[in-house]
Amino acid sequence: GVRFVVQEHWARNLHFDLRLELDGVLKSWAVPKGPSVRAEEKRLAVHVEDHPVEYANFEGVIPAGNYGAGSVIVWDRGTYRSFKPEPIGEQYERGKLELELFGHKLGGRWTLVRMSKSEKDWLLLKKADTAARDQDILERAPRSVICGLTVQEMRDVPGWLAGLRARLAELGAARGTVDAHQVKHMLATLAETPFSRPGWIFEIKYDGVRVIAERRGEEVRMLGRSG
Ligand code: MN
Repeated sequence: GVRFVVQEHWARNLHFDLRLELDGVLKSWAVPKGPSVRAEEKRLAVHVEDHPVEYANFEGVIPAGNYGAGSVIVWDRGTYRSFKPEPIGEQYERGKLELELFGHKLGGRWTLVRMSKSEKDWLLLKKADTAARDQDILERAPRSVICGLTVQEMRDVPGWLAGLRARLAELGAARGTVDAHQVKHMLATLAETPFSRPGWIFEIKYDGVRVIAERRGEEVRMLGRSG
């Protein structure tokens, strides 16, 4: 199959963007109420402009003043295929897609159909099959399948990161590249008697492995030693 993604987008209005990879782009529909996994429950899906395929993995915050400003999470993703012999491109041209979804949250057979006498308004509905559920999937599974945050929590991430950066600067943390091999693991130290001293905190010592994580671009390495 090829990719599909459902991004939850909290802009001026909260909505869900269903995107299907087709002919090298993401065909896109904005679903104001989000998908329903209840059999035959129709949801309006407004056809919007195509997006580049790279956009399928985007989640984060679109800054104020930009188009679509607000927060985005990847609410679901996976692959899809047609369960009818007609090629998906022809189904799209005809205005009726018969889809089988293989996502984390959405599965089974779906229909996406253009309303008569309309260019932009389509309907999305779950077909009655074993993947249909009598539940509110949006309420039951609200989090990103990538980072685990809700779209509301995602909106707080830039502020949270700014606070973290300010705190790290306050503590004199390195601002440039750090050579992980030059960093010493924090190990427990033997002492004769307990003491209290500014700059120290006491915690239970669990046995295990102390790890320094090093990231170079996309590559992450863990340097561990027992302690
Ligand atoms: Mn959107």
